Amino acid sequence: MHSIIIWVLAATLMTGDVEAAEVVKLKQGAYAISEAGVTSLALLSEDGVLITDPANPERAKVLQAEIARLTSRPVTRIVLSHEHLDHVGGTEVFPGAEVICHISCKALFDLDVTGAAPKKVHAVFDDRHSFQFGGRKVTLIHVGPADGFASTIIHLPEDGIVYSADLYADRYIIPGVWMDNDNYLGVLKALKLMQDLKPQIAVNAHSTSTSVQALQENVTFVEDLFQLVSAQINRTMTTKAPGAVMDNIPRWSQELKLDQYKDWSNYATEFPAHVRRMALSIYHGG
Ligand SMILES: [Zn+2]
Repeated sequence: MHSIIIWVLAATLMTGDVEAAEVVKLKQGAYAISEAGVTSLALLSEDGVLITDPANPERAKVLQAEIARLTSRPVTRIVLSHEHLDHVGGTEVFPGAEVICHISCKALFDLDVTGAAPKKVHAVFDDRHSFQFGGRKVTLIHVGPADGFASTIIHLPEDGIVYSADLYADRYIIPGVWMDNDNYLGVLKALKLMQDLKPQIAVNAHSTSTSVQALQENVTFVEDLFQLVSAQINRTMTTKAPGAVMDNIPRWSQELKLDQYKDWSNYATEFPAHVRRMALSIYHGG
């Protein structure tokens, strides 16, 4: 069990609002900072700070204030977990920082009409990209399509830490409204890849938990969901015209169950959307 130091700070924004941030020390020079429903990784070095997913300008200012309590160094590098706009905003709060995102981010950023997307992406990568930061190895592993196209695992191999966004939740069935851009086969691939890295700490962008238990439970959940839905699809494809699969998805969404997960939040209301999403991922490809 890694040592955890948690403190909750009241950070005053320029507006006068007071927001609480939770700062967890994961390893020497490595922190998880949670605020406004998003958790960022912060890695300290002699030269500057690397962060993930500032999310939006307001949260980025809180993040900046929390980092100033840890070090006088500026944020010099921002790694984005994927292209979705609720993760990538606020980079302008750190004007000297290099913004890094998977190469497929740029296509979506070019379509942004909200102003949330970074004005500039300084570095892109394709499959994997490793670099040293503050004496520790950082590897960016592209796993998409999963949640969007750019889904990236941030792996600190020497620390046994993985960071990911929007690929799983902690005993919580993610509302279907957030699932429309998911390829569930890609999500399963990403979860298994993370599990194979054998992390001791799994930082999840929408959770304050850093336990690997949630990751492991979700590998099992998504595998069970895949077995459940693929069995129905295979049976239908061998006995009926292939078009029958699409016709059956609404009924399967209501009838298929995995009641061993009924204690997870939202199971009753949101599980049908996960059946639908898995069926479409298997049969339609997205
Ligand atoms: Zn997302």
